Amino acid sequence: MATNLTGTVALVTGASSGIGAATARELAEHGASVALVARRKDRLDELAVEIQKAGGSALVVEADITDRTQAEAAVQQTVEHFGRLDTLVNNAGLMLLGPVVGADVEEWERMLAVNVQGLLYTTRAALPHLLRAAEEGPRRVADIVNISSIAGRVAWNGYGVYNLTKFGVNGFTESLRQEVTQRHVRVGVLEPGGVDTELGSHNKAEVRDAMINPFYETTEVLRPEDIADGVAYMVTRPRHASVGELWIMPTDQA
Ligand code: NDP
Repeated sequence: MATNLTGTVALVTGASSGIGAATARELAEHGASVALVARRKDRLDELAVEIQKAGGSALVVEADITDRTQAEAAVQQTVEHFGRLDTLVNNAGLMLLGPVVGADVEEWERMLAVNVQGLLYTTRAALPHLLRAAEEGPRRVADIVNISSIAGRVAWNGYGVYNLTKFGVNGFTESLRQEVTQRHVRVGVLEPGGVDTELGSHNKAEVRDAMINPFYETTEVLRPEDIADGVAYMVTRPRHASVGELWIMPTDQA
């Protein structure tokens, strides 16, 4: 498919599964060269082969974005390989649910590290390259899409620290949008409702049974491709139009 991402480079964090893998595929179909960032290299290798077979260009970057050095190196490796960076999709994330009373602090720390610190590290490292891309073309605009959540808009009992991270992502995104938008780096959040991915599987069995499985068993949830489609919409707007927020829900999720 020939579209206006041809000649651009996109970095997608959390590209080894779910929304990130679908987004990398979608952006590659739109003509972008894609850097696939995550820890599970075998998954990234498979996706890169798939994208290359379809005629796209993909680079595998094995990195744990909670480690600042690795997050910075992932951006650097992308720019060294492809020569530029036009689009950053901060998608890597973790959702560990449960009560605050008696909570496992290590779970909180892991969530904060990926959803907040990792996003900050990649964003900071990418910004000089995105600002340059916005100045030099080919589109004279660059994009950051942060994958937040409906949990960044609404708080629920048992979601406390996940809510904290996603409300934080929304606030940070809008602040950064105001900082760089007049230099033509567009910054926006995409807030999905329930999507069929591995996200819930990292929770303890009792949390999955009480809070996650009942929802997935009774709801026709979104597919990762629905969110990838939203990301593609955000980053293919004309230069003068910036999508600051996109909220996508399963139709039968109230
Ligand atoms: P998945 O669990 O399928 O994917 C999460 C991705 O994040 C994986 O590719 C994982 O790769 C990556 N990741 C996790 N930790 C790290 C790390 N330290 N360094 C690098 N990559 C990491 O879930 P989703 O696709 O659903 O999640 C993607 C985003 O969407 C998240 O931000 C999530 O909060 C958000 N979201 C999801 C919803 C849903 O219902 N599924 C709803 C709303 C928002 P690896 O393990 O290989 O490192």
